[in-house]
Amino acid sequence: MMSETLRRELERLTTCPVFYDEPMNRYTSMGVGGRADAVFFPAGAEELKTLIVALKERGIPLVPIGNGTNIIVKDGGYRGAVVSLKGLRRIQLGKSGADHPVVFAESGVGLASLVGYCAEESLTGLEFCAGIPGTVGGAVKMNAGAYGWEMKDVVEKVCLLSPFGEIRERQRDDLLFEYRKLHLAEDEIVIGVSFQLKQGDRRAIREEMDRIQVLRKGKHPLDYRSAGSIFKNPPGVPAGRLIDETGLKGIRSGDAQVSEKHGNFIVNLGHAKAADVLDLIARIKKKVFEQKGVVLETEVVILGENGNP
Ligand SMILES: Cc1cc2nc3c(=O)[nH]c(=O)nc-3n(C[C@H](O)[C@H](O)[C@H](O)COP(=O)(O)OP(=O)(O)OC[C@H]3O[C@@H](n4cnc5c(N)ncnc54)[C@H](O)[C@@H]3O)c2cc1C
Repeated sequence: MMSETLRRELERLTTCPVFYDEPMNRYTSMGVGGRADAVFFPAGAEELKTLIVALKERGIPLVPIGNGTNIIVKDGGYRGAVVSLKGLRRIQLGKSGADHPVVFAESGVGLASLVGYCAEESLTGLEFCAGIPGTVGGAVKMNAGAYGWEMKDVVEKVCLLSPFGEIRERQRDDLLFEYRKLHLAEDEIVIGVSFQLKQGDRRAIREEMDRIQVLRKGKHPLDYRSAGSIFKNPPGVPAGRLIDETGLKGIRSGDAQVSEKHGNFIVNLGHAKAADVLDLIARIKKKVFEQKGVVLETEVVILGENGNP
């Protein structure tokens, strides 16, 4: 818990709205997790910069979040500051030295808005994001992908904020992406991204988005809260198939369940705790290793401390 003195001091330094002792189940799609000491809501890059510098100078740990669709916060909550990037929502058609169109989006722009915007402008390249429920910042940090495409295929450059308040741009060739990860320095925050797209046909773009959404609805358990795929796919075989073949679909821990529909999803049936989700993750890893000899690695980001919500 942040002391009263520290709260007052931070409030003097930044105009940024803040909630203290906030339950993190409100900010994550899985709907589990204890309280964070503070959740800040900067309205733009300048406010974000002031906040980050103030937190850094006082040694307060921080974690940036977008839509919280790839995060599990443990039941003991998070000691430090959660910084919601959702107030950074500018999106615009840019210009590039090259002859392709570029769209710039701030990190809090939802992928749904970005994909819709591009479709309206008849720009093709981001259709694979249709139905991924994250924000631009979270998607680039996670190198989100689907149907053979990843963020790295469409990023032209990324605008980053260092914990010391420096803003700099890094070109695609200067960034290290891997499967579901963009390597960034510690506490570096994505504030905006330029996407390199192509001129396309609006109707064909919309049809591709619809096709992808139908595929996703058929495969994913969208009637329940979840954090998407729990594990990365090991080389050569989808994690969901390994989980299915080891007979783990449908197993429960409290109100958390390995989805009957997709083995790589854990769903919250109503009142799951983070401990239930983590218990299922441990059981899956153990059984898949014992039966298949494969070590599964989590794709979801697990934050915070053990304890009671
Ligand atoms: C139903 C469902 C389906 C999904 N389908 C897919 C899919 O097909 N493909 C896929 O790849 N993912 C999928 N996901 C996972 C998730 O939606 C993506 O990873 C998404 O891009 C995460 O974005 P977010 O804004 O929610 O990030 P968050 O969950 O808020 O954050 C994820 C990570 O990124 C960091 N982060 C967030 N914003 C920033 C920032 N601005 N700067 C630096 N770091 C930041 C956070 O600290 C955290 O480590 C799915 C999730 C759900 C619930």
